[in-house]
Amino acid sequence: MLSEFDLIAKYFTRTPRHNGAIALGVGDDCALLTPTPGTQLAISSDMLVEARHFFSDVDPRKLGHKCLAVNLSDLAAMGAKPIAFTLALSLPTVNEQWLAPFAEGLLGLADQYQCELIGGDTTQGPLTICITIFGEVPNGAALRRDGAQAGDDIWVSGSLGDARLALAGYRDELTLDHATLEHAAQRLHSPSPRVEFGLALRGIAHSAIDISDGLIGDLGHILTRSNLGATLNADALPVGAMLQQQPRTLRHQYALAGGDDYELCFTAAPTRHHEVQAAAQQANIAVTRIGTIDTMLGLRLTDASGAALESHPLSFDHFRT
Ligand code: ADP
Ligand code: MG
Repeated sequence: MLSEFDLIAKYFTRTPRHNGAIALGVGDDCALLTPTPGTQLAISSDMLVEARHFFSDVDPRKLGHKCLAVNLSDLAAMGAKPIAFTLALSLPTVNEQWLAPFAEGLLGLADQYQCELIGGDTTQGPLTICITIFGEVPNGAALRRDGAQAGDDIWVSGSLGDARLALAGYRDELTLDHATLEHAAQRLHSPSPRVEFGLALRGIAHSAIDISDGLIGDLGHILTRSNLGATLNADALPVGAMLQQQPRTLRHQYALAGGDDYELCFTAAPTRHHEVQAAAQQANIAVTRIGTIDTMLGLRLTDASGAALESHPLSFDHFRT
């Protein structure tokens, strides 16, 4: 069996190739980063625990991809450029059948974003993966949650709800045909972080967040931090291709509260409409205007005609899935 040091050397040690910010990578007591002058470091951690955040039998390659993707998504939501990450791994056993594809999924995505693995920790224990990611953003240019302004348009990238649809299939809450489940599961297992779009939104968006826990909850963080409210057109929500085939109530429910979407929700002045669309085009992603920021606190849902949806406007508990 591989020792801890052999394991790190075999799967998680690479000579930094990609970016000049890394003065020293894996192998010493600390890694050393040299951020570009005039930038701030953006730092975020996400922990994934077996049985809580992923199924025990999930494809390790997809798991490797996903645990970095969710961290990259946090950088995207700040408008920060990825630099590097650390990997803290707790493994029940040293299983190379698992480690090899896990490292490939992880480092494949890292290469795509030129984000280097610069260190970590490895220990025996229940399967847990904790990544801390480092990005950089010009001083003062980060897209924060507290910057929304009354009158802003609310936008969302890509599409929502397909990851939650896949979960419903796995949990037997719904009966989905094989092809639908496979397509929806792509969104659940292999999210694409919207890094390029986050970068393109700098200087345009007033506030941003990535949607990991469902649109309502995550937009709610922007509203709370900005001390404002919002009105959303539920019929304008960009629903995933597989969810599109489901009944309207389910479409609303999963798009509003599904979770695991890893799209960006952001606000921008209506005058920046064309710039938002140009940024989306540049990042090769769809973008949809779904509502407006208001001074009245709370969140109101309407249909396409602007009529309030039947549910009580301030109570979304039945959307929490
Ligand atoms: P220390 O005991 O000083 O904390 P370790 O023996 O834990 O150092 O780790 C040795 C080196 O290997 C360090 O540079 C550390 O960052 C790196 N490392 C440990 N685990 C991992 C991992 N899972 N992925 C990448 N680097 C790792
Ligand atoms: Mg250590």
